[in-house]
Parts: sequence; structure tokens; C-alpha cells
Amino acid sequence: MTRWIEEVLHPGLRFKLEAEKVLYDSRTAHQRVVVFENVTLGRVLILDDIVQTTERDEFVYHEMLSHVPILAHGAAREVLIVGGGDGGMLEETLKHGAIERVTMVDIDAGIIELAKTYLRSICKDAFEDPRTDLVIADGVAFVARCDRRFDVIIVDSTDPVGPGVALFSDDFYRNCRRCLTPGGILVTQNGVPFLQATELVNTLTAFRSLFADASCYLATVPAYVGGPMAFGWGTDDLKARATPPAVLRARFEKAGIETDYYTPEVHASAFTLPAYIARMIS
Ligand code: SAM
Repeated sequence: MTRWIEEVLHPGLRFKLEAEKVLYDSRTAHQRVVVFENVTLGRVLILDDIVQTTERDEFVYHEMLSHVPILAHGAAREVLIVGGGDGGMLEETLKHGAIERVTMVDIDAGIIELAKTYLRSICKDAFEDPRTDLVIADGVAFVARCDRRFDVIIVDSTDPVGPGVALFSDDFYRNCRRCLTPGGILVTQNGVPFLQATELVNTLTAFRSLFADASCYLATVPAYVGGPMAFGWGTDDLKARATPPAVLRARFEKAGIETDYYTPEVHASAFTLPAYIARMIS
């Protein structure tokens, strides 16, 4: 018998997904986890009643939150991922052969074990890559104590629910900035602005006080309901956001990466914001 699983995230709305087969339904030390198979989306990961990723559309989110800052930077060697337990961001980031080390800090070892067991099509062999430096820790505490520096920091967080709340705090962003190399770039998962405006406004208010350039860019991830998702963008490199498509294309081709969503032209246009989002963050 199939079961319907509800995403509970936005006031007055419920997103129901049919679970043809439930693969895992329990709690880790930090959050409630359900992994199941859906006829349209493939395997789906839900944490604390919120959709995190699906086999069918993960490429949009993971490509856009990794390749945009890495190719805009142009010379990234050290990358930090905060969160990202499903391994999709790690897998995408490691596609850049010039990156020497990817440090991934997730609070929940249980999610990583589940990803290796049930979400191999997403994480592939990223956790076994010799360039992967996996740290099980609270990302907030990690950046507060970290004396290393990163060219790109990717915050692949849950929504601000449960252990993810602190990943949206001003202190966390301030410490991320301290952990960037000069001209380094910080990008963040910032939800769907149509339904989660406060999240984006708060992040960009903090970014404006920390960075010479603070903005966001967009991509539509089908399983995140409510329109395009916003990714926060903070850097002191005023030129990075406007890197010309021809330069991005040269870097993309040199990296030899195959993508299903990202193209240098999509990258450049993702920073063009519809009026309601531009107004929201002005
Ligand atoms: N793509 C997803 C989305 O848009 O919601 C996020 C995916 S990933 C599964 C989110 C990860 O953030 C989880 O593995 C969770 O354990 C991790 N996480 C939550 N709070 C954290 C914290 N304070 N420090 C480090 N990792 C955290």
C-alpha cells in the first residue's frame, strides 16, 4: 500500500508526495529522516518534514550552488561546504579538477551514512574521494574556531528549522567571511523568495554589512514549491558577479565539466532578478 508524505513548510500550504516504497523512516541524533521512492521524482530525502533533495531534480540545485561561485572565482583551490549531508554538493564541487580540497562540515553523521546507502545516484563516490575532508560538527562552531581560509564557501543548509536555524545567523555569516581568502565568495541556500521572503531579506541585510558586493541569484528547482529559489551571494570582489559569459565559458570548458542545468549563459542571467525580488532585497 502506498503512503502520502506531507511537506510542512509554508503557512497554509501542504505539498504531498506519494511514497511508493519507504526505504528509511526514523530519527538520527539531530533530525527526523524519511527516504522514499516517488514515481515522478525518484528517491526523495525529507528532513523534519521538509523536502531536501530528489534524484530527479537535484542537478539544478547542486550545479547552481557550486559552479556559479567556483567559475566566477576562477581560481578556487580550497572549498568549504557547510551542511550538504546528501553529498550532491560535494560530488558537483569535486568535478573541478583544479580544486585541491573540499572540506564538508555536516552536523549529522547519520545523514551521510543514509546518503551512502540510499542516495548513491546523488553522492556517487564523493565521500571516498581523496580530496574530500569530511568533518562531523556544527557548522557554526566550525567556522567560529576555524583558522583555515577558503576561496569559496557554500552553505548547503536545511531551511531555518531545527539544527539549521543557526546557519542563518549574523554571527555565522561574519565567521564565514573571516574564513574567506581575499576575493573569496560565500553562497547560501536561501529558500523560495515568493514564500520565504524574510529568510532572504535577513541574509542580505547581514551580507550588505559584511561584503562589498551582496546580492542573490535564482534557479527554479521543481521540488521546492513556490517559484524560483534564491541563492545568497557575498564577496568583496566587485567584478566576480559580472564575470562576462565568454570568460565563464572559457573556464567552464577548461574545467571539462558536463552539466544538465548550468551553462555560462544561464549563470550570467541568473543574477537578473524579477521586480518583486529586486524590491525585496533593495
Ligand atoms: N538541498 C537542501 C535544501 O535546499 O534544503 C539541503 C540539503 S542538505 C541535506 C542539508 C544538511 O544541513 C543536512 O545534512 C543537515 O544535517 C545539515 N545541517 C543542518 N544544520 C547544520 C549545522 N548547524 N551545521 C552543519 N550542518 C547542518
